[in-house]
Amino acid sequence: MSLQIVRTVADLRAQVAAWKAAGERVGFVPTMGALHEGHLSLVRLARTRAQRVVASVFVNPTQFGPNEDFDAYPRDEARDAELLAGAGCDLLFAPTVAEMYPDGFATTVTVTGVSEPLDGQARPGHFAGVATVVSKLLNQSQAHVAVFGEKDYQQLQVIRRVVRDLDLPVEIVGGPTARAEDGLALSSRNAYLTDAERPIAGQLNQVMRHAIAELNAGARVDAVEAKAVAALEGAGFARIDYVEVRDAGDLSRLGPGPVDRPARILAAAVLGKTRLIDNMAV
Ligand code: AMP
Repeated sequence: MSLQIVRTVADLRAQVAAWKAAGERVGFVPTMGALHEGHLSLVRLARTRAQRVVASVFVNPTQFGPNEDFDAYPRDEARDAELLAGAGCDLLFAPTVAEMYPDGFATTVTVTGVSEPLDGQARPGHFAGVATVVSKLLNQSQAHVAVFGEKDYQQLQVIRRVVRDLDLPVEIVGGPTARAEDGLALSSRNAYLTDAERPIAGQLNQVMRHAIAELNAGARVDAVEAKAVAALEGAGFARIDYVEVRDAGDLSRLGPGPVDRPARILAAAVLGKTRLIDNMAV
């Protein structure tokens, strides 16, 4: 299995156009690299939907806040390329920041509604950065189908909104969250966790599973949310940005009583210098 690497939009478009001219469907998996089994599962999912799979690795500066981990974010292109080749990816698009944001760049895609609560509040500007770079990547790749992880559930809903609102001619597919044995969602940022923090990190998902069981037994949303926050504080998380049960589609507020429609529980919490997020269907 050989993996082609391109760094310019022109080279990416030329290869995708050639595949399309040959009648092949093209799938696309955007990432920030430091790849793990979660990313690779999305590549394999894309393969079931398309004959050719493109992945991108681009650590997008505009989706990081000023005090976030843009500089520290793990980068290892050679390892990423090897993993992508093994998962059946055909082409890696690894542009420079200058290729993505040329001099004079002045356009931002902002999404209201679904991007406002949760991480939209905790990370001001984050989803504008995501919506802008993903709009560009979808337009650059011209893929038939693009696969995103449910791990970043709010991001997935924001991207679905952008694609509908801007009539982007691409099908968006969500892939299930790949987890470690104790439930911790795989994440490139898990590399920041110390040995002492790692078992505590697993508590995030365990607390959420417990909350879901209570909700399914008819418990009130407000009570379950408060109990989950207390449990995470007790487990040793330094800061809990949110644990909230929301509408599974538009992420509007649910409760305070029992869950009465398709819902999602979403959480973000900080352990040491690592910010973890997770979500599950209720
Ligand atoms: P990132 O490189 O973290 O920006 O993620 C790139 C893509 O991989 C996004 O669509 C993420 O939602 C997805 N992803 C990240 N972690 C996981 C995981 N544990 N399981 C499934 N997809 C994931």
